[in-house]
Amino acid sequence: TNLIEIKGVTHAYQTPNGPLPVLDNLNIAVPEGEFAAVVGPSGCGKSTLTRLIAGLMKPDTGEVWLHGERVKSPRKTVGMAFQNPVLLEWRSILDNVILPLEIVAPSMPRKQREARAEELLALVGLQGFESKRPSELSGGMRQRASLCRSIVHKPDVLIMDEPFGALDAFTREDLWQTMHALRASEPFTAVLITHDLRESVYLGDQVFVLSGRPARTQYVLDVHYPQ
Ligand code: ADP
Ligand code: ADP
Repeated sequence: TNLIEIKGVTHAYQTPNGPLPVLDNLNIAVPEGEFAAVVGPSGCGKSTLTRLIAGLMKPDTGEVWLHGERVKSPRKTVGMAFQNPVLLEWRSILDNVILPLEIVAPSMPRKQREARAEELLALVGLQGFESKRPSELSGGMRQRASLCRSIVHKPDVLIMDEPFGALDAFTREDLWQTMHALRASEPFTAVLITHDLRESVYLGDQVFVLSGRPARTQYVLDVHYPQ
């Protein structure tokens, strides 16, 4: 079954110079547990797409479905990860990862929250760094911690908007491996927005290539590497 369905989505922004068409009849379906990578040049509408999936915006025409429900308003079942994660400096790494649980599962005992966060931090290679402050970690390690934070509460979907864009090439490739390791133990559905074609093919089960103005889906690659 498809966890995400984007059906015939067309969208234009209203600007002082008139409407700016951005997306043209986009169709994307993501089965539960799969990664969809959306790749395209800067300005082609990738961030717009993330806002539509998260329910932060409504498309002019077409529909966005999540888990069999039409998306009409912001969802707490959607996790977001960005290029420059904001970790709270006055909290330890562990307490940063726990944060979403404090919000969506306030009755979960503290010990249980900690165990969940520790489990994820170990999966991404941050065992032993739980009590460090964000500024004591490298950029790649902070991005690992923030990935843990964005899935700790098991959102239906994780939307990643250029999550590795600020990292050097070597660290970025480390993070790709980390994503595979994380997926192997912790299945989740994700939309990865990137302008790095290699990254899209390495991490996506399907790759949607957007281009043109307004953007259309030009190619869909079915990758499905053995995990
Ligand atoms: P991408 O994430 O692929 O760089 P965006 O979705 O951010 O693309 O933007 C697509 C186009 O829409 C760009 O030309 C951008 O300038 C324009 N745009 C984005 N958001 C707005 C907005 N809120 N109002 C007007 N134009 C916007
Ligand atoms: P990013 O691509 O870093 O996620 P955004 O999607 O927020 O950035 O914005 C992409 C482009 O859209 C930028 O060039 C920005 O100037 C333009 N844009 C974003 N929001 C608005 C807005 N409310 N009004 C006009 N232009 C916007």
